[in-house]
Amino acid sequence: MTHPSIVILTGAGISAESGLGTFRDEGGLWAQHRIEDVATPEGFARNPTLVVDFYNARRAQAHEAVPNAGHAALARLQAEHKGEVLLVTQNVDSLHEKAGGSDVVHMHGELASALCSNCGHRWTAPLHMEVGEACPTCAQPTARPDIVWFGEIPYHMERIEAALAQADIFAAIGTSGNVYPAAGFVQMARYVGARTVEMNLDPSQTVDLFEDTRPGKASETVPQWVDDVLNG
Ligand code: NAD
Ligand code: ZN
Repeated sequence: MTHPSIVILTGAGISAESGLGTFRDEGGLWAQHRIEDVATPEGFARNPTLVVDFYNARRAQAHEAVPNAGHAALARLQAEHKGEVLLVTQNVDSLHEKAGGSDVVHMHGELASALCSNCGHRWTAPLHMEVGEACPTCAQPTARPDIVWFGEIPYHMERIEAALAQADIFAAIGTSGNVYPAAGFVQMARYVGARTVEMNLDPSQTVDLFEDTRPGKASETVPQWVDDVLNG
C-alpha cells in the first residue's frame, strides 16, 4: 500500500483544545441549552430567536478560535500524502480550513453559512444573523443557520460513502460515537478491509470496533499518527 486512501472523521474533541467546548463539557454552551430547543427543526419553529442567538454565540466563539496542532497535522497530511485524503468533520467551526485544510466536508453544516429554508440557496452568514433575514435569491424572510439539526439528513453522504468504500485507512478523531450515521463509518470501513484507528481522550461508544486506539489529546496523538502515516 504505497499510497493508501484515507478517510478521516473529526468531532468536537479536535476543537476542544482551541477552546470550543464539546457537547458534554460542563458550563459550556450546550450545558445551558436543551438539544430539543436549539438543535432541532421543531425547536427553531417554536423559538427562532433562541436558536439564532445560540448559533450567533457559537459563531462568535468559533470566529475567535485558532486551530491547534491536531488541525495543523491533518492539513499537513492532506498536503503531503500522495494518496486520497478525505477530511470529513461533524464540526461546524472552520478550524480545519483555518489550519490550511483543503476540501473539508462539513457533514453537519457550517456556522459560516446561511441557508434559505424556502429555496435552498446558501450564502456566507454574517457574524450576527437576525431572525427572519431575507434570502438574497428569493427575498423570503426564511434564512436559517446552515446547520444539520437532529432529525435532518447529514450533507454529502454519497461522497462520504463512496470514499469509505475505497478506504485503506479510516481514522476517527475526537468523536464520542453517539450520533449516526457518522458513528457507523467505522463499520463501513471495516467491511472493505480498511485499517481503523481511533484517537480520542476517552474511549468512544464504538472503541471496540477499532483495531488501533490511541488515547490522549488530539494535539498530541494526531501529529504522531500523521508522522506514522507519512513515514509509511
Ligand atoms: P461529543 O462532544 O459527543 O464528543 C467529543 C469527544 O471528544 C469525547 O468522546 C471526548 O472524549 C473527546 N475529546 C475531548 N477533548 C479531546 C481532546 N483534547 N482530544 C481528543 N479527544 C477529545 O462530540 P461529537 O462526537 O463531535 O458529536 C457528534 C455530533 O453530535 C456533533 O457534530 C453534533 O452535530 C451532534 N450533537 C451532539 C450532541 C450530544 O449531546 N452528543 C449535542 C448536540 C449536537
Ligand atoms: Zn430563498
